[in-house]
Amino acid sequence: MEKISYTCIVCPKSCKGELIVKDNNEFETSGYICKRGIEYAINEYRSPKRMLTTTVKMLNGTFSNLPVVSDNEVDKDKLFACLNYLYSTKLEAPIKEGDIIVANILNTGVNIIAARDMKIKS
Ligand code: SF4
Repeated sequence: MEKISYTCIVCPKSCKGELIVKDNNEFETSGYICKRGIEYAINEYRSPKRMLTTTVKMLNGTFSNLPVVSDNEVDKDKLFACLNYLYSTKLEAPIKEGDIIVANILNTGVNIIAARDMKIKS
């Protein structure tokens, strides 16, 4: 039997709970006050994922960095590799909010999307 504490980050209540993994690989939970928290704890144990948000350097934009966001959650163990890839990426304006900046980043199946418009610097 294994007992792991996770704080649910699905909503601002931030319930602190425990996931018990029984010897037959069934789960028990305590402390989570809704089904989403139970699902969160089980997913954290099996395959933790996170949304990715960061900025990417612009070569000729009105601002020097473009905010970007993933269109789905990325496996937590690939998050830093994806961030490093984006830190070494340079973009050219113009860019429209919602444009795909990087498709299928590092074969994760996740696209990186522009979070705002970026015009060419005049
Ligand atoms: S368990 Fe439910 S109520 Fe508690 S933080 Fe998670 S989503 Fe929110």
